[in-house]
Amino acid sequence: MTEKLRPCPICGGEARLQLTDEEGNFKDESYLENPYSGVGYVLVHDISDSETCPIATHCDEALGTIIYASKEAAINTWNGRTEDNLTNYIFKVMNIFYGSFINHNNELILVPKTNLYFYLGDVNTVDKVKYKLLEWCSRSCFKAMPYRYAKKNKEYQDDVLRKVNECLDMEFTREQMELIYTKLGNCINHELTMKFVSSGYDMKLLEER
Ligand SMILES: [Zn+2]
Repeated sequence: MTEKLRPCPICGGEARLQLTDEEGNFKDESYLENPYSGVGYVLVHDISDSETCPIATHCDEALGTIIYASKEAAINTWNGRTEDNLTNYIFKVMNIFYGSFINHNNELILVPKTNLYFYLGDVNTVDKVKYKLLEWCSRSCFKAMPYRYAKKNKEYQDDVLRKVNECLDMEFTREQMELIYTKLGNCINHELTMKFVSSGYDMKLLEER
């Protein structure tokens, strides 16, 4: 069962899928004839193939703690490297902010007209893009006034709010965005931003204190 798995990102060595029961106990293929305690799959990256790899394990041990319900799920996780996901996510953000571009300073210019942007140089995961959206774009969702007329400013704010929400798969209101800006804006409390994102945007984290 070595099909379709990409090489290890660290050592370039081979990883394989291992059939298990529901609890992660290794099984051979004959177990599938009568899988009395469920079927699972785990990833194995055997140290005997890659003696110096820091994430390799013994040949009878699984990588990590996740038991996948299908081969496909295990393969997708192993093959879905951060950099692939990151590129895809940045493309998603750029599609939502139609007309955006990345300049020679590695800044993602989301709205050229108002120069709404953030720096991509220190971004290496999808979550870090989300931190930037919260820290550097929340103000524009309710408060920015790049135009002369109130009506245009309101339209602009609503537009940025809608787009940021789409990037984050959320439906934050203006009021919630104001709280986000107050607590997280301009990278004022980066640790809290990280907590907020990993909690699945639990507003209670921001409401406290
Ligand atoms: Zn490795």
